[in-house]
Amino acid sequence: MSKENKTVKIYNTPDKKRVTLIPHKENEITMYSCGPTVYNTVHIGNLRSLVNFDVVSRALRYLGYDLKRVVNFTDVGHMSSDSDFGEDKVERQAVKEETDPISIANKYISHVLESFRKLNVLNPNGTPIQKDINVPDMTKEEWTKLGWARATDYIPEMIDFIKRIEANGHTYETEQAVYFDISTFPAYYEFFGQNLEEKQVAVREEVKEDPKKRNPADFVLWMKRYGKYKNHMMHWNSPWGDGFPGWHIECSTMSCGLLGEYIDIHTGGSDLISVHHPNEVAQNWGAYGHHVIKYWIHNEFVYTSKGDKLSKSKNNAFTLQEIEELGIPYMALRWYYLTSNYRTPMKFSIDSLKSSQSVYENSVNRLAKEYNGKIGKPSEEYIQKFKDALSDNFNTPVILALLNDLIKSNISSEVKIATVLEFDKVLGLDLEQSITQGAAVKEIPYEKIKDKRVKEILRQREIARKEKDWSKSDALRDQLAEMGYRVIDKEDGQYIVKE
Ligand code: AMP
Ligand code: ZN
Repeated sequence: MSKENKTVKIYNTPDKKRVTLIPHKENEITMYSCGPTVYNTVHIGNLRSLVNFDVVSRALRYLGYDLKRVVNFTDVGHMSSDSDFGEDKVERQAVKEETDPISIANKYISHVLESFRKLNVLNPNGTPIQKDINVPDMTKEEWTKLGWARATDYIPEMIDFIKRIEANGHTYETEQAVYFDISTFPAYYEFFGQNLEEKQVAVREEVKEDPKKRNPADFVLWMKRYGKYKNHMMHWNSPWGDGFPGWHIECSTMSCGLLGEYIDIHTGGSDLISVHHPNEVAQNWGAYGHHVIKYWIHNEFVYTSKGDKLSKSKNNAFTLQEIEELGIPYMALRWYYLTSNYRTPMKFSIDSLKSSQSVYENSVNRLAKEYNGKIGKPSEEYIQKFKDALSDNFNTPVILALLNDLIKSNISSEVKIATVLEFDKVLGLDLEQSITQGAAVKEIPYEKIKDKRVKEILRQREIARKEKDWSKSDALRDQLAEMGYRVIDKEDGQYIVKE
């Protein structure tokens, strides 16, 4: 497929159907993704979104688009329950951990980057995430080069954005806050097929918080350090007084500031369809008098087998570390995500993850056996089918089926492996390394470890675990991690993987 005649179909949420992707500029795509709020340990539900849109980004680049992408870190103003008058998630965690909000944000930005890196999620600019990025020292310019945007780096730009909306007559101010006045943007309710009643119930409580708020759907652009937020720790001067930005204005400001006022694609979790994204639409309209985003794409959630959303508060969600402790390689989790299209809700169970693991390991092991040191030219027929599946709303399950088909085919090993490695440019499963090194994961059992220091730490860790001294066991795990080893606990003992 040449650059000129590609037809990519994507599901656009406002249209409720697949549409042909026609970017503003031919062969160039701008894409903004709502990224994590950095206040806690991410779980495998949160990570799905990042892996899904990593695949979408890799796919767009593979199909020949010049992709410019930004993903944000929200480190201020995102309130609990996503409401305007909740508690700031980052500040709440700072109180819990007895530290300040910036340290919390730094700690969890490091944590999410490390989690993404382990899952082979690329920086938004398409380069691999480096190990041990020194987050507190990163400048705004350095983040920008990689495609990341940290909300607290953009406060002056947010103030300018609000000023624009204000100058266009879409705001009003109370003692407590500056609001977006929804009555000035009637299209608000139409955009994502909003259910006004549901929204009113959700925000009824907030009206009590500020009696001067006119309409339940109006939302905060700038919250003043007043009333409930008198002691808000993160605060800045503004034309409306000392305070902090609303969550929604952050995304409008960073997306338009970094990608311009005509953006092709905006992504996020399906939970953002009801409030966060309509609010961004309203703000963008308020600032520019036209829609900014051409296509909205949303990924679905991961649920338990009983149908509950995986969530930290329900204590039903595994973290990456817990997956690791079960001896499941990261790439098996990535494979597991790819078994569903990003728009399909997933029902998670350890058994389903383990069955993905076994398909992944069998596939890699079969390919590794076939590898004879030579890599040929990819099969045109398979590459065409691969591109067709990508162009069909990034249909990863079809691609995994195609991969399986290819593995079983009697195509020569050199061509087969070359084709698989082409697929992996989008799948991101580290297949080159595992195929050429001869196994899905190089897990080394205790008996085969040569390094005496490593062996000694593992021996001490085994004693600590027998004595149920989990903090010592964790400290020893961390010590090994610093030396570049990951420990996997299996029924028959400890294994290590060199990172
Ligand atoms: P939270 O920290 O719970 O607000 O989650 C942050 C983001 O992760 C949400 O906005 C969702 O888009 C995503 N997320 C949370 N839970 C899940 C889940 N179970 N499945 C998929 N995505 C999730
Ligand atoms: Zn956002």
